[in-house]
Amino acid sequence: MIKTDAVIIGAGPVGLFAVHQLGLKGLKSEVIDNLDRAGGQCIELYPDKPIFDIPAIPECTGKELTENLLRQIKPFNTNFHFNERVQEVSCENNTWLVKTNKNNTFSSPNIIIAGGVGSFEPRKLSLEEAENYEGKNIFYSVNDKNKFKGKKVSIFGGGDSALDWALELSKISNVTLIHRRDEFRGAPHTLSEIKKLEKIGKIVIKTKYQLSKIEGDENLKSITIKNDDEKTMKIDTDYILGFFGLIMKLGPIAEWGLNMNRKTISVNTENFETNKKGIFAIGDICTYPGKERLILSGFHEAALASVECFKRAKPDEKYRFEFTTSSKDIQERLGRKTK
Ligand SMILES: Cc1cc2nc3c(=O)[nH]c(=O)nc-3n(C[C@H](O)[C@H](O)[C@H](O)COP(=O)(O)OP(=O)(O)OC[C@H]3O[C@@H](n4cnc5c(N)ncnc54)[C@H](O)[C@@H]3O)c2cc1C
Repeated sequence: MIKTDAVIIGAGPVGLFAVHQLGLKGLKSEVIDNLDRAGGQCIELYPDKPIFDIPAIPECTGKELTENLLRQIKPFNTNFHFNERVQEVSCENNTWLVKTNKNNTFSSPNIIIAGGVGSFEPRKLSLEEAENYEGKNIFYSVNDKNKFKGKKVSIFGGGDSALDWALELSKISNVTLIHRRDEFRGAPHTLSEIKKLEKIGKIVIKTKYQLSKIEGDENLKSITIKNDDEKTMKIDTDYILGFFGLIMKLGPIAEWGLNMNRKTISVNTENFETNKKGIFAIGDICTYPGKERLILSGFHEAALASVECFKRAKPDEKYRFEFTTSSKDIQERLGRKTK
């Protein structure tokens, strides 16, 4: 059981800024995200697109914003629990218990839901047998590329993830890149690198093919792919990597007894608490009269929610409003020397 002042569900921009606001007040937080990295929509949906409405930053990409938010919270040494989805929340003696799909339990007086539009989950292969090999021979993201060293890897997909991993793994594995269309959607320069490797036999590309069969016993042995003319081809395969994009699911959050309004959670605008004391919702997932789904709004919501979190985490201490420019306590928490 991990005890903390606040559990933050979601490592999108708003969850990251909540870490900062809690940290300034001397509160520790643990962050859980279903994905394998921080950044939420900024990283998953528009890493290279410019954002123009972050105060005092005339222009930055989704990736740059995420990197800066991570830099800003570095002094707080926060624990991130990636690849974990929060499944259940329950209450015991005024303390919330948060359980994840990896059976980790967190105990805290505060839960901040910064779950955006829900958890992003990979779109999976449609063949039923694929489930038997998932997590063993079939993956939808890569945590450790060394697993694929010297192995036969079939990569499915036509976007950036499929192309990037085909290029990267071609250095250590036998890669076949399979896509159901002729055109790839990924970055042109990555594609041209891959085409060069194809010419010298370092990578095999099969377009207009889709997966039709998986064969193996304990482990995967081969796959069969089929093209539009029903022509089939068997390929010896140790691992399948599928990159078919992400789907967004509100998932278990909808079952926690919170006041839901369509797919969002109703909150008050004083402290962004939900109908359950100690559970807050901020960022895209919350709703209230006049709500705008902007990063800027999420930052404000995080700041006000953190004040109420302080009162619940430290009931014997008085909350004092302080400026970062003049508070010695805050500057110490940020690792700055004070005179
Ligand atoms: C193409 C595009 C362009 C945009 N441009 C702008 C712009 O210019 N300016 C602007 O202000 N906004 C912009 N936005 C909107 C902005 O990205 C969102 O407002 C912002 O990302 C919301 O942040 P968030 O942290 O609330 O949620 P998200 O960024 O959605 O992050 C939520 C995180 O929570 C995780 N999560 C959800 N449920 C669970 C669970 N049960 N367990 C574990 N993890 C979970 C998800 O995996 C995700 O990582 C844009 C959005 C898009 C799609």
